[in-house]
Amino acid sequence: MTKIIAANFKTNHTRKSTEEYIQSLDKKLLPSDKVYIFPTPIALCENNFKHLNIGTQNAYPIFNGAFTGEIGLQALKELNIKTILIGHSERRNILKESQEFCAEKFNFFMKEEFEIIYCVGESLCVREKGFEDVKKFIQTQFENIPIKYPKLIVAYEPIWAIGSGMSASLEQISQTHCFIKSICDAPVLYGGSVNAKNASEILNTKEVDGVLVGSASLDMESFYEIIKKAREK
Ligand code: PEP
Repeated sequence: MTKIIAANFKTNHTRKSTEEYIQSLDKKLLPSDKVYIFPTPIALCENNFKHLNIGTQNAYPIFNGAFTGEIGLQALKELNIKTILIGHSERRNILKESQEFCAEKFNFFMKEEFEIIYCVGESLCVREKGFEDVKKFIQTQFENIPIKYPKLIVAYEPIWAIGSGMSASLEQISQTHCFIKSICDAPVLYGGSVNAKNASEILNTKEVDGVLVGSASLDMESFYEIIKKAREK
């Protein structure tokens, strides 16, 4: 199966730099690549590229209405955007999105047949308690999530590995992905300090169906290096 390579720009890049990045990356891609870019909301553009897919980092579960600062389905439809990230730890922890709200968003965008990259992952404090606690914690992040949804992709992103430069070990990745795969049939991506140096061994791990990349995706050439590593698998 082709490995999925996704870039989460978070609050980085401008509209102009995103456009330049996407245009030049799309020219380098092959039809067999499976690449997603999640730009910052102001840089969202029409999803009409030859190879890569544009997704939204977030949206409000509404068609349109009085929700100041939010993006609704109507705006996404106009851009032909059909992929959304839900449950990212920065939205859960910094923006205080509850499991209930993640599930509400999931159910709304599922009805609209979006592809959903649903993020789960434990804090360092949970990880330090041991794998049984990690499993219990991840299980709670699947509460009210229709795990049989065919357009579900799970991203396992341990919070302590995000942006820290300290990726989870291959053993931790493999063990946790196995657990997630025992819960649902969806492809499982790993996210957390993936870069051009460690991508190869992470992508080589049997239970890893792709990677979700933050910091190392901000530079197009470094992200393209990761895409090239995925082609070797
Ligand atoms: C992320 O936040 O989705 C992520 C994986 O970030 P980083 O690659 O910087 O750890």
